[in-house]
Order: sequence, then C-alpha cells, then structure tokens
Amino acid sequence: MSKRPFCQTKAYRNLTEDEITDMTEAQAREQFALFRWGSTTVMPCPSCDEVDEHYIRHGRNQWRCKHCCTDFSVTTGTPFLNRKLPFKKILHLVYDFTSSPKGCAADEYHAKRGVTLRTAFLNYHKIREALFEMRDQTPLTGLVQVDGGHFCGKPRRPRQRKQVTSAIVNNKLRNRKASMIPGGQTPTMEPWNREKYRNRRIAIVLSQIGNKGEGANRNIVAVAMSESAKDVIPLIKKYVVPGSTVWTDDGQAYKRLSAWYNHDSVTHSKEYSTNKGVNNNQAESYFSRLRRAEYGVYHGMRHQYFAFYANEYVWRADMKKKSLGEKYADAMEKIFKSGPSKSWRGYVQGHRLGFEYLG
Ligand SMILES: [Zn+2]
Repeated sequence: MSKRPFCQTKAYRNLTEDEITDMTEAQAREQFALFRWGSTTVMPCPSCDEVDEHYIRHGRNQWRCKHCCTDFSVTTGTPFLNRKLPFKKILHLVYDFTSSPKGCAADEYHAKRGVTLRTAFLNYHKIREALFEMRDQTPLTGLVQVDGGHFCGKPRRPRQRKQVTSAIVNNKLRNRKASMIPGGQTPTMEPWNREKYRNRRIAIVLSQIGNKGEGANRNIVAVAMSESAKDVIPLIKKYVVPGSTVWTDDGQAYKRLSAWYNHDSVTHSKEYSTNKGVNNNQAESYFSRLRRAEYGVYHGMRHQYFAFYANEYVWRADMKKKSLGEKYADAMEKIFKSGPSKSWRGYVQGHRLGFEYLG
C-alpha cells in the first residue's frame, strides 16, 4: 500500500474546530494573550516595553501599565486593534483560513460564521497581510526553480468567435495557445477590453528543491509588472545566493542568468523535463494552486492586493508538512508580530494603502 500523504494522517488532525467552538469568550481572550505573550499575567507594555504584572482594569478587558500608565488590551498594536468582533469569532476565522488546504473565500465563510461579507473579507486579508509582512526573505540556495505566471488582468474573449475547425478544437483540448488565436490571426479585442491587460501582474516564484521526493522545501514569490530580464534578473539576484543552480524555462528573460548562476533551462514547447532531468515542475506546482485559487476559490484577485494572495499560497506550500495545530499557531504568531495592518486599518472609512507591493 502506498504511503498516505501527511494531510491524511491522524497527526495532521491535531486541532479541530470543536476546540474553538467549546471555548468561552474569556478562554478565547486568554488564548490571544498566550499566543501573544506566552502568559496571561506578565506581559510587555506595548507603549514602553516594560515587562511586568500590570494593573488589571476590571470589566474593560484591559491592563494599565505600571510604568507609563497607558491602558492597553491584548489586541493593542496588532492587526485586530479596535476590533468589535468577539475573540472567539476571530479565532474561528483564523482556523478557517489556516485549515483550508486550497484557500478560504470570504464569500463562503461569512455566512457560516455569522458575520458580514466585508467583515470576513477584511479579517482574512488581515491574516494574509500578516503572513506577507512576516515572510522569510532569506535568499534561497542549492537548486532553485524559477518561473513566472500571469495573473489578475484578464480580458474577456472577443465578442465574435472565429470559425471553429477540427484543428482548433484539437488545440483547445490540448490547452495550446493556438486555440486562442485561430489561424494565427489576432482576434479583434475591444479597446475597453484590452485595457484590462494593465491590471496584469506577474508572479515570479522561486522554489528551493529539497531532498529527493520532498519537492520544494521553501518558496519565495515576488510580484513584477512584466516577465522581462529587466524585472526578473534583479529579483533572482535578490532572492537566490550567487553560485546556486537555477532551473528555468527557455524564456528570453532568463538567458543571461549563467553570468551569476549555474543555469539550465527546459524548453516547454518540446518537453516538461530534459533527458538530464532539468524541469520546472515545483514552480509549476505552485502556479497550479494559485491559478485554481484565482479561478475557483476567489473568482478573481485585485492587483493592488495580489502580493498578499501570492504569498498566501507560498505559506500554504511551505506549511504542507505541518499539522493543523502548527499552521494555526504559526499564523497566530505572525499576526501578533506583524503590528497594526497597513492596508486594512480604516478600510471601511475609506483608507487605502495607495501603493502596491512589487518585488
Ligand atoms: Zn508602559
């Protein structure tokens, strides 16, 4: 019998939703304190950093600092600052987010959790942003596969369809690009439709390959405006230690890589893996999940927040060998370390970040 994947074992299921459902609100708040400070009685003051048993402000769920007299709560200085949502609901949202293997759509979970769509949307994005802020950017080494995938801006197909021939159908069944441009002609796309290309973003994923059979053991994703040497080479130089081995496809952008790396490429129009075993499959594996997230889970991603979504799937890929409890704890830890949300604080009042994360 073949070995079961880790996500189907008992060790993986070490935290169930019932454990959160059975908590009282006070216990949920205690769990916040334990994840944040490792204690419910001794903690550093968020204003002056003095660690002490601060005065408890009874009935307010707050403490008053013994040194600078500032009042604070367990969410002061975190993405959940000024929250109105009960602690238990937040824990449930974090559990939903971390336990779903393929992504967690606010559209699906808001009704289950009894909150508005916007509340679920904002809280999931706060988790996503915390994972992004706390991502590990230490350069990769050893064998690294690099590839770019196009996301966001998706023009619709032209209103008029070209005449369908058996060759076109054949191409379509094999998912070849020729099916989009029958007969090699450019389809007439309406100008307003063509505009949508401006929202297109390129996710450049770098996957560090682990031991044989392990797949990628660490990934980094960066968002670029194009898949050209001008955009791609600086990213690879930033995220891969010089002298490492880099495998890419035969795209023009990667041609110059051999100046800094031991570079090999695979020609995807001919083969998925060369006779020597050069391939890009771990990078493609990441894209297959992100692609399905875009089409199937979220039904679209806005380019302003694409870096958060792309990093969410890096987190999911990197946590593939971790149990539900470990994933939940990792997300909670990152939430408390990441500080107040830059993108989502005051979102309802009209605040917007005003820039997007690239690189
Ligand atoms: Zn203080």
